[in-house]
Amino acid sequence: MTDTLTASPTWRPQTALIRGGTTRSEHDETSEALYMTSGYVYGTAEEAAGAFAETNPRYIYSRYGNPTVSMFEERLRQLEGAEACRATSSGMAAVYAALVSSLKAGDRVVASRALFGSCQHIVANLLPRFGIEAVFVDGTDLGQWRDALKAGAQAVFLESPSNPTLEIIDLPAVCDLAHDAGAIVIVDNVFASPMLQKPLELGADIVVYSATKHIDGQGRCLGGAVLGNSKFVDGPLFTFLKHTGPALSPFNAWLLLKGLETLDLRMERHGRNAGEVARWLEARNGVLRTLWPHLESHPQVELARKQMSGGGSVVAFELDGGKPRAFRFLNALKLVDISNNLGDSKSLITHPATTTHSKLKLEERDHLGITDGLVRLHVGLEDIADIKDDLTQALAA
Ligand SMILES: *Cc1c(COP(=O)(O)O)cnc(C)c1O
Repeated sequence: MTDTLTASPTWRPQTALIRGGTTRSEHDETSEALYMTSGYVYGTAEEAAGAFAETNPRYIYSRYGNPTVSMFEERLRQLEGAEACRATSSGMAAVYAALVSSLKAGDRVVASRALFGSCQHIVANLLPRFGIEAVFVDGTDLGQWRDALKAGAQAVFLESPSNPTLEIIDLPAVCDLAHDAGAIVIVDNVFASPMLQKPLELGADIVVYSATKHIDGQGRCLGGAVLGNSKFVDGPLFTFLKHTGPALSPFNAWLLLKGLETLDLRMERHGRNAGEVARWLEARNGVLRTLWPHLESHPQVELARKQMSGGGSVVAFELDGGKPRAFRFLNALKLVDISNNLGDSKSLITHPATTTHSKLKLEERDHLGITDGLVRLHVGLEDIADIKDDLTQALAA
């Protein structure tokens, strides 16, 4: 490869998003090359032996590493300000790898109750099968964190803002409590995206992403990433990934690299559109409550403004009339699509009680505020007037 500037300490985030991690081939291409290869060849047997002896670091096999995947990892690493980053095939692969690489039988994990469904399944059902005790707390209640951490713990796992009710967890406070108890803190930062919240700066040890969401941002592929210190990420985490195989496809890495280039612009527009929709919804008849982290009426707006630089793309709101009304509303939408995904340039809406959170027991849903009238809207990049027109006609249905 020819000389390429892959990082500069003076680059500001937007520049790193466009240029960070780029390594050019001998063809001097402008856009990042897509290395669709599973393996690599060696000039000599000695070279192959050196690669395996790690005396000659190079690409060996794409389950271990791939140049396009490396470019994505390095670009995201620079954006997050982490020592190291490893990409995975999906967000759930990132969550699972982060948890199992830092825990062993006999350990204890304390997690917030309001977790993404599959994350909840890993902590509540999978980890206990391997002798790891799981304790759940209300993430917004520092007293519960304190009590649960009294018995000690090795890891704390949480999501803020939470899905779908957009609860905010006080990250610096929970990180202090966790560290005092001897636990590392793993934050699922998907809803905020790397643009709006920096968990590592707020005290967390590990950040995980579903790159499927805002990082791709155009609903095209799955992907994930784990970021943190290199001792952990390039140590036990990389060993786990190497030998268990949730490798990110080079093609998906290429899409995600291109996604990062516009992430800042898109998050700005998502946030502007979502804020306008939230304020507008709040004033509509038949809307009982509207939740968006930076909305003046959000119960934790001060905390949200302190630890997030924007409110994000997701607005949750409750319609008067329960499930029949919510279904009538969703079915009447013409522009906004019914989809449980989010982070797309398209506006997407879902009814959590019957989709993303349908596996929860009724009392758990009640406890989390996931009522039958609640809908979760990911506000896309369309013209805000068209989004509001669609919501207006569907509210009238
Ligand atoms: C989507 C999502 C995940 C899982 O990511 P996948 O890429 O779908 O595997 C994890 N956590 C949160 C908060 C998510 O929104």
